[in-house]
Amino acid sequence: MICPKCRSRSDEGPGQPTTCARDGTHLIRTSDYAEAAGDTMLGRVLDGRFIVIARLGSGSMGTVYRAKQMPMGREVAIKILRSDRALDEAAKARFLREARTNSVLTSPHTVTVFDFGESESGELFLAMELLEGESVGQRLTRVKRLPIDTAMEVARQSLLSLAEAHARGIVHRDLKPDNLFFARTITSEGRKTETVKVLDFGIAKMLGDNIEMNAIETQAGTVFGTPRYMSPEQAQAKPLDGRTDLYSLGVILYHMLAGRPPFTDDDAIIVMARHIKSTPKPFSEVCLDAHVPPEIERVVMRALSKDPSGRPENAEAMAKEIAVALENSRAVTSGMRPSMPMQASSSGARSSANDSLEIAAITTPATRLPRVLLAVGGVAIVGLATALFVVWPRGGSAAQPTASSAEIAKSSTAPSINAPPTATIAPASSIVTSELSAPRPSATAKVTPPHGTALVRHPTVKPPTTAPSSSGVRYGTIE
Ligand code: ADP
Ligand code: MG
Repeated sequence: MICPKCRSRSDEGPGQPTTCARDGTHLIRTSDYAEAAGDTMLGRVLDGRFIVIARLGSGSMGTVYRAKQMPMGREVAIKILRSDRALDEAAKARFLREARTNSVLTSPHTVTVFDFGESESGELFLAMELLEGESVGQRLTRVKRLPIDTAMEVARQSLLSLAEAHARGIVHRDLKPDNLFFARTITSEGRKTETVKVLDFGIAKMLGDNIEMNAIETQAGTVFGTPRYMSPEQAQAKPLDGRTDLYSLGVILYHMLAGRPPFTDDDAIIVMARHIKSTPKPFSEVCLDAHVPPEIERVVMRALSKDPSGRPENAEAMAKEIAVALENSRAVTSGMRPSMPMQASSSGARSSANDSLEIAAITTPATRLPRVLLAVGGVAIVGLATALFVVWPRGGSAAQPTASSAEIAKSSTAPSINAPPTATIAPASSIVTSELSAPRPSATAKVTPPHGTALVRHPTVKPPTTAPSSSGVRYGTIE
């Protein structure tokens, strides 16, 4: 163990002291200290309850730490908002108000916020469930793109989270691969699985008008969000409703399937302008090997409609479209069309057991063919073995049980959710970028890299209005 303040070392183990004999600071593991040496948050106690023990990572909004909540001793993740951003009292009040609103979300696909507050030294923090695993962004960096079924499952589970939030009038505003997390979980039957969790609900809004973070200011006003995943209305600082999140999820889907987002450029303003004006290239042009079925491509492109009214009307409707598209594309692949469209298996928050990603259940058109061949091969092997068994002189104990064809097929082809798709990625040279036809918003401040979160002043404050929709959630204007 080490004292992060005076760096004196001591033994670790049961019965050993947990605080420094010299200055009373909470001791932390030496290995945790090595990863974040010099970080003054380590060993600190926030709000008298959370002992900061290790740094998990940092992003544009702040740094996330592993912490122990006293007195119960449970481990939590604590996000401490960047202290280099001076927050005035109004901003702090808004942060606390928004955190309270967001802490009512109970979907198993939304990271649980346990607590929030302000430390004695003035840092704002959120205490949330500690997740094990990696973000969709981290996985995409590792494997470039995801199998179609995995990508669809990520969207479906994210939509369960969004459906609840939107119904409560909470818009995420900063959906991006880094804010979707593959959390390793264990089912009630003890099976290891992964559940998608949405992080950072409304955090962009919490920080709101009073912070200048890598600001992009446009003529239309100011914008929140991450340019690569930003909706056209967000890029234009227009009033937002839940459909802005559906667009961002469409961008994430595109990225997961094609291995790159639809619009990329070093200049964030150009990326934003493309969201406003340019049509995304079809998958067949940006990633020759993606083999995205047309039904699924249609759903993604609908979510990417420039006009929110061209998108699914709410999260449930999008989940339904995804389920129907998947079902239809499977039926086409197997030569059978279902007589009735499948109902989406999404309706509000549900138990996480059925909403988890099944590691062995991921199949893509690319993996289906080898699986079929193996199954056929397996049947042939079993047939041959049976024939030999019948004609061979029966030698008592020499006969060994033979694996069934299904077992052979399963054990040899079930892909891991971590595995990259079998098809390869199209080289960057095959990516065709469109000419920029949109009016270029003028940038008056420094520009965030397109993958970062841009937070800019947003002067428009509109009272919520409700736009009736034919089913489910009504999207009003939430500012
Ligand atoms: P920001 O939103 O400020 O850009 P991130 O959301 O990227 O920051 O978080 C920084 C790091 O902390 C990332 O590596 C992320 O995966 C990790 N992280 C965030 N929330 C949790 C959590 N609840 N449990 C475990 N790790 C988390
Ligand atoms: Mg984040």
